[in-house]
Amino acid sequence: MDKIKMSVPLVEMDGDEMTRILWQWVKDILILPYVDLKTVYFDLSIQNRDATDDAVTTLAGNACLKYGVGVKCATITPNAQRQEEFGLKKLYPSPNATIRAIMDGTVFRAPVLVKGITPLVPSWTSPIVIARHAYGDVYKAVELKADGGVATLCVNGVQKQVFDFGSQSGILQAQHNTDKSITSFATSCFEYALSEKKDLWFSTKDTISKVYDHRFKDIFQEIYDTKYKEKFEEAGIEYFYTLIDDAVARVMRSKGGFIWALKNYDGDVMSDMVATAFGSLAMMTSVLVSPSGAYEYEAAHGTVTRHFRKYQAGETTSTNSVATLFAWTGALKKRGELDGNSQLIKFACDMEAASVETIENGEMTGDLTGLFHLDGVEVKKLDSKGFLQAVARRYEAIQTV
Ligand code: NAP
Ligand code: MG
Repeated sequence: MDKIKMSVPLVEMDGDEMTRILWQWVKDILILPYVDLKTVYFDLSIQNRDATDDAVTTLAGNACLKYGVGVKCATITPNAQRQEEFGLKKLYPSPNATIRAIMDGTVFRAPVLVKGITPLVPSWTSPIVIARHAYGDVYKAVELKADGGVATLCVNGVQKQVFDFGSQSGILQAQHNTDKSITSFATSCFEYALSEKKDLWFSTKDTISKVYDHRFKDIFQEIYDTKYKEKFEEAGIEYFYTLIDDAVARVMRSKGGFIWALKNYDGDVMSDMVATAFGSLAMMTSVLVSPSGAYEYEAAHGTVTRHFRKYQAGETTSTNSVATLFAWTGALKKRGELDGNSQLIKFACDMEAASVETIENGEMTGDLTGLFHLDGVEVKKLDSKGFLQAVARRYEAIQTV
């Protein structure tokens, strides 16, 4: 059969350790046999970031904006121990943070659901996608210890007393955000909700934080009313704002199937809760969406160092490639949508279905075997490559039906 053609390339960002191994196998076993793959390739391995003084990361981020769709392998964010391990010239920043800054984007995390792995909240039958604002607030806060004294907040000559400590000791903190960043966050959320055709929820604590959180609420509402209301109505989806306490209660009672936008700290905490409740980090996908409509797909997990050490020692590994595969299929699907390439979209959808069905039929990697229970299905643990080969067989079977 002829391979599926692509008209515009994907931006491909290779990475480190076990995920770099999976990256090549996913391509060799599941993509290259079927797609005449076109990519603009960047090697974001720690060695190449060091060799290029991290210029390669910036080039890759800019390429994502230029071409519109990228797919990224997990990468090492170096710490002191890694600096020594690789003899690095310096401690480079997280590539994800660099790319996020270039794309001015918001990260959306969504779990891959399979029958047999039941979420800890049984009513969650559809994915809950968390959109976390990844700028400012407590992550860029300025903090002080006070030993008595009066704390004031002051900008451009306007002053407000924060607290009169008198002779007490205590602590204080100042947070900031910018209208520009909140606007980008809101725009990315509305764009993503439209692209996924899912309802968008947004929640803060605006009843208590009458200026700070309220500004988030107002910016979201203004952008929705002026730019997205009609598009949402046409798409049959809904935007609504509610207080975070109410949102938490509603989320617990919900069936899932929506996007939940959250401020930086709320998103940090809630994404760990939601990921755990849905099963395994290895089944969690992540996409960075820029307000200009560029997309960067990746797995939410890291480079799985512990498994890589086994691989280096020549031992068999059973590392889950689902999130890495879904990064590829997500990117190919989006490329297909942008280029009007229905064959590419069908390929990506069939490949996702094949991987889900493979697990539902009992063939999976070791991280899932303890979580999976489906009556009448015998569980078989496969090694890293064996799982990909099983998905390939199922994909071929889908094509002949
Ligand atoms: P990790 O790579 O996500 O792995 C943590 C543990 O989770 C693994 O040891 C493994 O548990 C399990 N796990 C994660 N992904 C799995 C998969 N696909 N299949 C099976 N099990 C999986 O996190 P880490 O060990 O904290 O970080 C390793 C490196 O990744 C670090 O250098 C960090 O900087 C980097 N990192 C990169 C990104 C990114 O690029 N987006 C994100 C996070 C971390 P068991 O060992 O118990 O099997
Ligand atoms: Mg966290």
